[in-house]
Amino acid sequence: MSNMNFEIITLFPKAFELVNNLGVITRALKKNLISVNLHDLREYGEGSYRQVDDKPYGGGSGMVLKPEPIYKAHDSINKSPSSKTLLMTPQGKVLKQQDLLRWSSLNQLIIICGQYEGFDERVRFLADEEVSLGDYVLSGGEIPAITIINGLTRLLPGTLGDPESLVNESHNSSFLEYPQYTRPLIFKDMKVPDILVSGNHKEIKSWREQKMFERTKDRRKDLIDNSDFLKLQKDNRIEKNSDNFK
Ligand code: SAH
Repeated sequence: MSNMNFEIITLFPKAFELVNNLGVITRALKKNLISVNLHDLREYGEGSYRQVDDKPYGGGSGMVLKPEPIYKAHDSINKSPSSKTLLMTPQGKVLKQQDLLRWSSLNQLIIICGQYEGFDERVRFLADEEVSLGDYVLSGGEIPAITIINGLTRLLPGTLGDPESLVNESHNSSFLEYPQYTRPLIFKDMKVPDILVSGNHKEIKSWREQKMFERTKDRRKDLIDNSDFLKLQKDNRIEKNSDNFK
């Protein structure tokens, strides 16, 4: 068993070949920190045609995934003691970094991917949580599932080269990350801010805090958690003129 075992119920297992070509995630697979086990819904289909979908009762366009194959696929999975089942649906709670963190302590994540017009309503009873990637509709749950595999795997110990990189990044706190620069010092007349090459770590830290705050305020006011804001303000780490913020 790996630290985290993803069990994917999908009609399109080939879509998951992508995880073999995603840098950090591929490394985690090779190091056996994660496993991605594919459960092809077609194998659990009904009759000689292995039917997995049908027309909706009451009429309407498109096809809906039948409940039996999904239940059979779900039943076939050996459940670990710390396991959760996620259902991918645009009707779910919108995925947040905090959800990835919460699930990263589990051993097993079973992810059910819908297709076509979605799935029979009774499939919902298999799910511990219903998850949406955002307020738009995709053609299937595979990309949302790969997103979860990707975002969660990089949180697992031993996956990233430097675990420190998780600390300051966007969405870890209520703030977006500060601007980052690398060489060259001047590129197309754009110069790296002097403070970053000053060697003054205290000043650099406070510049970065200021930038994190400004950037979040400009772009994503909705993200700022009042307590983080008040803490920075109390410590005099953000400028006074930002107190008209709340
Ligand atoms: N008719 C459905 C949408 C079906 S889209 C409805 O109105 O709710 C087909 C499948 O793609 C869904 O069952 C789901 O598994 C996946 N999907 C589409 N958009 C998604 C999103 N924003 N987040 C997560 N899964 C999504």
